[in-house]
Amino acid sequence: MPDALLALDGVCKRYGGRTALADVSLAVGAGEALGVIGPNGSGKSTLLNVVGRLVEPDAGRVRLGDADLLALPACRLAAAGITRVFQAPRLNAHLTVYENVALGLYGATGLRRRLLSPVRGGLPPRDHARVLRLLDDAGLAAFAGGTPRALTHFQLRCAELARALAPRPRLLLLDEPTAGFSREERDAFLRILRSARDAATALVLIEHNFELIVESCDRVLVLDAGQRIAEGPPAAVRADPAVLRVYFGGAHAPGV
Ligand code: ADP
Ligand code: MG
Repeated sequence: MPDALLALDGVCKRYGGRTALADVSLAVGAGEALGVIGPNGSGKSTLLNVVGRLVEPDAGRVRLGDADLLALPACRLAAAGITRVFQAPRLNAHLTVYENVALGLYGATGLRRRLLSPVRGGLPPRDHARVLRLLDDAGLAAFAGGTPRALTHFQLRCAELARALAPRPRLLLLDEPTAGFSREERDAFLRILRSARDAATALVLIEHNFELIVESCDRVLVLDAGQRIAEGPPAAVRADPAVLRVYFGGAHAPGV
């Protein structure tokens, strides 16, 4: 992919004697959704954490457009266009749900400045409307003024997603975002994600449920013991002998 939004080239990461990522290369185009699957311990979260600048690779290059992502500190990531939904929701319990979503637009310092400004008018009308819209899309309009403590696990994840989408990121990273969801909650979460894709946000989505990958991703990458063992459209990957071998000794396709 010559003009990829995100490109990893030969990324390696070891923990002691353990290889988490072994020479992984991949590319994600603008607006594209890449699913990442693999057994436990295959390196999925490490891969996402390398892109999210939480893990420093031992070797390899990571580029976001023309920029060297590895030269960028983690705190500059959102400004560069990358946001993420964490596995354990990380909302600020001292802020309202509305303010938590607004954090995605301004960051902590920017939000404090706006909310504490002498003319306490709150956010500029356009940003205010955007936050309300995101809350509405996430089914959280009725909870806007309340504390995140009042939210269910599912609602917390939706609020996190709304916050991650607020700055209209070029790339959104998600690590098993629907873990612990009911089927209805999963579908609702996917609907919000899809609206993000309409806005041309690219996704890297780690997921153990292959159906969800089929429904929401253009391409899927399969990791096993830190190695890339398959990559392609979901239907082709599901039938790939190497993938079948890893998942069920060849007997079943993943997620079936
Ligand atoms: P996955 O998300 O696919 O389950 P991970 O990326 O979390 O896999 O882990 C890949 C491998 O790296 C595993 O063997 C795991 O034990 C190891 N690993 C991950 N993070 C650390 C860490 N911080 N310290 C030591 N080993 C780690
Ligand atoms: Mg993981």
